[in-house]
Amino acid sequence: MKLYSTNLQAAEVSFEAALIEGQAPDKGLYLPRSLPLLSGDDLVSMKDKPYPEVAFRVLRKVLEGEVDEASLKGITYDAYNYDVPLEKVNENTYIMRLDRGPTASFKDFAARLMARLMQYYLKRENREITILTATSGDTGSAVAHAFYGLDNVRVVVLFPRNEVSDRQRKQMTTLQKNITAIAIDGKFDDCQAMVKQAFSDQQLRHLNLSSANSINIGRLIPQSLYYIYAYANLCNYPEELVFSIPSGNFGNMMGCVLAKTMGLPVKKIIASVNENDEVPSFLISGEYHKIVPSLNCLSNAMNVGHPSNLARLIAVYGGQMDEQGNVNKMPDMEKLRNDIYSSSVTDEETKTTMRDILDSYSILIEPHGAVGIKGLSDYRKKTGDKTIAVALETAHPAKFPAEVRSVTGIDPELPSSLKEIEAKKEHMDFLGADYEKFKGYLLSKLS
Ligand SMILES: *Cc1c(COP(=O)(O)O)cnc(C)c1O
Repeated sequence: MKLYSTNLQAAEVSFEAALIEGQAPDKGLYLPRSLPLLSGDDLVSMKDKPYPEVAFRVLRKVLEGEVDEASLKGITYDAYNYDVPLEKVNENTYIMRLDRGPTASFKDFAARLMARLMQYYLKRENREITILTATSGDTGSAVAHAFYGLDNVRVVVLFPRNEVSDRQRKQMTTLQKNITAIAIDGKFDDCQAMVKQAFSDQQLRHLNLSSANSINIGRLIPQSLYYIYAYANLCNYPEELVFSIPSGNFGNMMGCVLAKTMGLPVKKIIASVNENDEVPSFLISGEYHKIVPSLNCLSNAMNVGHPSNLARLIAVYGGQMDEQGNVNKMPDMEKLRNDIYSSSVTDEETKTTMRDILDSYSILIEPHGAVGIKGLSDYRKKTGDKTIAVALETAHPAKFPAEVRSVTGIDPELPSSLKEIEAKKEHMDFLGADYEKFKGYLLSKLS
């Protein structure tokens, strides 16, 4: 596999290099030059197979020649040791619950596979790295848990002090060992900017920094797998399927774009966002304006005013966007609009949807999942399309207890993985949104 940078100013690299480096030296994001095609037979043969088996069969094609098959099988079965329920809502609607991993969010899917792939290469070469990651909530805890206790990797996670829930924070601050959590006095976008600057800072090169947030290609590829799993279980090839994806940094949605590129019969990808509506506006107008600062919404893991993965989406559709959000070459807007529908959902609509789904179907969802459901119903209203659709539930309702309680009156039962952290002591450092201070911190702490 060869990967190129979305900024087009860096050399092509191998999968291993892209995985360990994270970001390209020209500040772009890596994308595979090409991906293998899944045949109809491949898809049919995956029906009723366990999730790790589907993951293995797809990855064996995608990572052919990169990881030996026996190791890859071990990695997928070890990473995916939990359920992936497809819950029927009505005749043509399903909810795929991606919340059964150790941190009860869909980010476990990406983080657990990426961590094991990194381990595979680092061990083989006897190297050590530091993972530096910014999180708006769930990425950090999923990444921290995925790497927790591993020998060749240290993790430093930055989060916006006032924008993550107590539970999200505790999942990062109660681990210790090789995990360091830093609370930043700022927004998620500030955390992300500091991390990005550190990666391109020559004076920090000796720290062997690597990213594990949604910009790492090692996170993106695993996020294509559950779309294939859902398809294999719900559709008869070549029947088409619609997905609605609650989106913030658009890593999850890019996973679906990759699956479609591999030949998965996806009729429409619905990118459902909260009131941070820079992407649906871009699809309509063709003009991109990031939202600075991002708006605080109920679905707080999606409070992103300039999604990092947008550069990848634009690249796949033949355009070029730099890391600042300047579109230097327009993508094929017609094709983009044909494949992707994007809807912005207000907090009021999010709440109404949570109540409606509970009242009509006795199904409890949290705010991010509700944005996905509402985006789907917006799409159906607009187009009349009745194609079978899967809306993703990206976190367990118990991760957002206050929101779920105030909207539905229900106290969601905690999964056991979340119960355990309640009693543990928190450890974290505090920093302002100031790059030079952060750099000094890294130099003194890691050197
Ligand atoms: C991160 C996150 C999202 C957004 O995913 P992106 O890949 O950033 O678009 C949605 N829901 C939850 C619960 C999340 O943690």
